[in-house]
Order: sequence, then C-alpha cells, then structure tokens
Amino acid sequence: MTGAFALLQAWWNAPSEYRWILDYLESRGILRPVKILIGAGVAAMGVIPAAILDSPAGPMSAASRTVNLLVSAVAIGWLLFWWFGPWPSPVVSTSFVVCADIGVTVVCLQTSNHLVGMFGLMTLVLVGAYATFFHGARALAVHLSCALISILLLGVLLASGREGDLPLAVVTGLVAYFVVVFIPPFLHIGFWVLRADAVDSLNDPLTGLLNRRGLQRSARNIVTADSAADDAQLVMIAIDLDRFKDVNDTLGHVVGDEVLIRTGHRIKSVVRGSAVVARLGGEEFVVVDIVPLSAVRDLAERIRVAIAAPANRAHVTASLGVAAAPAAEWLRTALPQTRELDALLARADRAMYRAKHNGRNAVVVDDALVLDPD
Ligand code: GH3
Ligand code: MG
Ligand code: MG
Repeated sequence: MTGAFALLQAWWNAPSEYRWILDYLESRGILRPVKILIGAGVAAMGVIPAAILDSPAGPMSAASRTVNLLVSAVAIGWLLFWWFGPWPSPVVSTSFVVCADIGVTVVCLQTSNHLVGMFGLMTLVLVGAYATFFHGARALAVHLSCALISILLLGVLLASGREGDLPLAVVTGLVAYFVVVFIPPFLHIGFWVLRADAVDSLNDPLTGLLNRRGLQRSARNIVTADSAADDAQLVMIAIDLDRFKDVNDTLGHVVGDEVLIRTGHRIKSVVRGSAVVARLGGEEFVVVDIVPLSAVRDLAERIRVAIAAPANRAHVTASLGVAAAPAAEWLRTALPQTRELDALLARADRAMYRAKHNGRNAVVVDDALVLDPD
C-alpha cells in the first residue's frame, strides 16, 4: 500500500517532461507529423459547433448560435497555429488544453437537446489524450476537473431542463465520467512509468551522467541557432583517468566507484550547465559543448585541473584529447548524425592516447584543429 502511495506521490510531483518528449519525437523525425495530426483533430472538433447549427438539437437563440461560430473560429485559429506555427511552449500548450475544454463545454451546454450535449462532451477525451501525452499530472488534473464540472453541469440540465430525466442524466453522466475523467489518470501513470524507464536508458546509473546513447541524443541537439557565431566550435573532449586500475587494485572497487562519481561532479562543476557530459563506460568520460575557438584549450585545461584537484583519498589525474568542428557548418547543412559524432569522438580519442603517451595528466588537441597562438 505504501509502495502504491509512494508511486502516486512521485507521479504527482514529477517535473514536467515536456521538452524531453519533444526532443524524443524530434529525434524520431515524427514531430512534424504529430503537429499535423493534432491540427487535424482540432479541425474535426472545430467543425462540430458550426455543423450542429443546422440541427434541431443545436442552439436556438441568436446569441448562442453566434457563440458556436466564435468557437469554430477559435478552432480555426488553433488549427493554423498547429499547422503553420512553431511547436507551442509549455504555457501555450496548457492554454490550448484549457481553451479546448472551455470551447467543448460551451458548445455542449448550448444544445437544445442535452442528451446530444452530453454525447458531445465525449470529445473531451481527445483533449485528455493530448494532456496525458504531453503534460504532467497537475495539468492533467486541471483538465479533468474542468471535464468533471462540464459533466455535472450537463447532468443538471438533463435532469432539470426540458428533458427532466434524472435517471438518463445519471446514466449518461456516469458513462461520460468513465470515458473522459476516470481512464486518463491510469493511462498517464502507465505512460509516466514507461517514460521514466526510457529516460534511465539514456543515463549511466553510477554517475547519473549520460551514457553512450544519451550522448548521441544530446550532442546532436546542442547545435542550435545560438551557436551560429562564425568561430563557434562543436567541441568533443575525450577524458580517460590515468592508471585507474591501480585505484581499484589498491583501494578496492567501491573507492574506484566513488572516484568515478567524484570525477563526474568535478567535470560538471567546470563546464557550462548546457554542456553535454557523459560516461561511456569504465573510466572514460566525454564532454561536448559549443565554445569559441579561442576557448577550446582553456575548457579542456579547466577539466584537467578540476579532476586532478587534491582529494581526501584516491587522488587521480586524467588524460584529455580534444577534437572540434565549426558549429556554424553543421547548422548550414544538417545537425551532426551518429556517424559524424563518432568520427569526432575517434579523433578526440586519438588525441587522448597521445596525451597518455606524453606522460598523462595532459591535454592534447587534435592536429586538424588550428588554435589561435597564445
Ligand atoms: P591508463 O592510464 O592507461 O588509462 O590506465 P588505466 O589503469 O586507467 O587503464 P585501463 O583501461 O587498463 O583500466 C581501466 C580500469 O577501469 C579497469 C577496470 O578495473 C576499471 N573499471 C571499469 N569500469 C569500472 C567501474 O564501473 N567501477 C570501477 N571501480 N572500476 C571500473
Ligand atoms: Mg580507459
Ligand atoms: Mg584509464
């Protein structure tokens, strides 16, 4: 029981994974098709308020007919946004959910046949599906509360209005409740658990840094328009701890693991928050960042010095190899793919082995990279 409660608590408090979901869809190349699909859903929902005007079940007064047309017009606005605009920010996306909830509710409340109105509320399941997929537990809770209020309002109209049919209000209200309100939280929790596993599969469990798969995913996305400056470089730094086997052999594996965790922290403490830091296995780390050409060597030196800083026990040093490619070039063509990133890493690795050869605790920069003379 406490396990289930802890799971629910973690689910409720989980940070938004909105960006991660978008990155994931983008990396699979399906962000654009999903946008088109959502736009099509909005179009279908936007037709309903206009189409029902021709039915005796639709709204009767001039004012409510105008409101229906207004809702259709707003739907067309959202449709254009989905098809031609950028992907919405989290705030705009949440507004989209609230707007859809209000639009559906208003149109359904205005029907002259409230049974049809209750039936129309079922379209809220589409809004719920969107919120379930893209948003966290709290945003979903807001949507479900709106949906519940809508069902109750229509239930009251059905029980007390022209129809005056309380049993029908209870039965249809319950059906709407199960479809629109009851099911989404279960789907959301299941989806959240699977997503947590997917996030884990990109991270190294010992250090919490990215693993090889996570590195590929993040390194590709680090090249953005912000990095378009002419001399900006996509830098790949291969880092291998020196004589790490001796740490394991003399102090034991547990201390070895502590050193790996400490090294991860130390690397992170001297790079930008947006830099990609990964552990590729064993005692090999990689840093990927966008930096001006003149700052490339300085970045690698900062990392070397941080790793070699005094420690209570198991003092270690590292050998670093640096390779880089102009970031603006990637932007002009296409984002670097696995093959290009692997090639860059191979160059960084070769430079790192030269650093080992030169006596360790050193930085070697790939020959292809011509740095400004100091
Ligand atoms: P060099 O300076 O040439 O890099 O020497 P090295 O001893 O660091 O190189 P080598 O690659 O031979 O040794 C790496 C060692 O890392 C071997 C293995 O025992 C240890 N190792 C690999 N993964 C882990 C791990 O997850 N935890 C611990 N504690 N040790 C690990
Ligand atoms: Mg090694
Ligand atoms: Mg080593």
